[in-house]
Amino acid sequence: MTLSLNDSSLLESRNLIAGDWVAAASGKTISVTNPATRATIAKVPAVDRSEIALAIAAAATAQEAWAARPAKERANILRRWFDLVVAATDDLALILTSEQGKPLAEARGEIAYAASYIEWFAEEAKRVYGDTVPGPAADRRIIVLKQPVGVTAAITPWNFPAAMITRKIAPALAAGCAMVLKPASQTPLTALALAILAERAGVPKGLLSVVTGSAREIGAELTSNPVIRKLSFTGSTEVGKELMKQCADTVKRTSMELGGNAPFIVFDDADIDAAVEGAMASKYRNAGQTCVCANRLFVQAGVHDAFVERLARRVASLKVGAGTEPDVDIGPLIDDAAVSKVRELLDDAASKGATVAVGGGAHALGGTFFEPTVVTGTTREMAFFHEEIFGPIAPIFRFDSEEEVIRLANDTPFGLASYFYGRDVGRIFRVAEKLEYGMVGINTGLISNEAAPFGGVKESGQGREGSRYGIDDYIELKYICLQL
Ligand code: ADP
Repeated sequence: MTLSLNDSSLLESRNLIAGDWVAAASGKTISVTNPATRATIAKVPAVDRSEIALAIAAAATAQEAWAARPAKERANILRRWFDLVVAATDDLALILTSEQGKPLAEARGEIAYAASYIEWFAEEAKRVYGDTVPGPAADRRIIVLKQPVGVTAAITPWNFPAAMITRKIAPALAAGCAMVLKPASQTPLTALALAILAERAGVPKGLLSVVTGSAREIGAELTSNPVIRKLSFTGSTEVGKELMKQCADTVKRTSMELGGNAPFIVFDDADIDAAVEGAMASKYRNAGQTCVCANRLFVQAGVHDAFVERLARRVASLKVGAGTEPDVDIGPLIDDAAVSKVRELLDDAASKGATVAVGGGAHALGGTFFEPTVVTGTTREMAFFHEEIFGPIAPIFRFDSEEEVIRLANDTPFGLASYFYGRDVGRIFRVAEKLEYGMVGINTGLISNEAAPFGGVKESGQGREGSRYGIDDYIELKYICLQL
């Protein structure tokens, strides 16, 4: 299949290893399919461990020279990369939608969001300040230097094929690190296109490699090779825990952006229309396939029925279809496994007494298209109270008191995003402080941007991406003690 791109060279199906665009030495490939049509778009290499090792060795050489360059030079190259990504928005969005499925408008939004991290860290590169510390002895001086971690690795998921990549590569390169990236097998083409633009912007050969193939095999090399000093991972909690264990043997640093189970709370004094709009944005974006999607909607008894009625009406009006068609709100789910998961969660809820207010089944379009759904009469006993849905289902739980809803909201091992709607200022502070989450959206369902620290607590992960704190994940502190 060919895509009608302005710059057809952006559709690249080789890997970038040690500065060269190559196929796998074995000739093995994996197919990339369009989830809307199930057509094969490309075949990318399935490289083996020796090829990953080559990428890591080249990264080590390139990193030394990169770290030695003035931050201003690194910043200028990142800035050029940002400009090239923005200029290529239409092509990148089409590649992204073709392999991931989200509506083109959302894909364009993701490219802008992805680019914003490159712009941000291009600026931050110049502001990695150390300290001189007043010490306890008169004849000693304490200096704290900030230095790059070194050669880093990243493993990223399919739900944001551009943004999850730039928010790792950009701070790494800004800090003076090198990176070997393994994008998700479902969505490698966006990553490879971004790497082409990075090369054109002047990112030196070998500093950034992009490799595809067996996750297990690549993961094994990235987590065991002693040259890699840090792994940044975004994906499921299950795989994240496995990778942390693997990293323990060589004591690598890790940044983990893992699963969520976001509560979305609507109090009696909320602006109901605003809460419905917030729920739409938070729940149905990317067909519900984000780790910050509202997973459990808690609505206070006094406004429960009004909220359900308005939300169901809005959800019924959503247009489902291929992301490349005009005016589509919801694309297909990523694969058959995603559909089965959603189906199982709905069956479980139905067997325990839940009612479907709208949607509830496979979409007439077939394939992996699924109807956007609202479910009421839900309880703590149902599986989606505990599990990340990752699909377009909004389960609504009725609650009575503030204390009760905080207990319910925190009753999960996850702690990524949370949201609530209300007007009472005292309660806004109380609830925001008591929610055991890394991020709290108050009267908004969209919280992610490059200036804010994104990340979770508990089993949702460690480390922060974006913001002035994001670069810290790629920096080591060195303490220098000077005796006068
Ligand atoms: P998702 O549910 O988003 O697919 P995963 O955690 O399964 O989440 O995948 C996220 C990323 O982790 C993908 O790039 C995937 O290929 C990779 N991955 C999956 N399993 C492993 C593994 N055992 N070792 C290393 N990487 C893995």
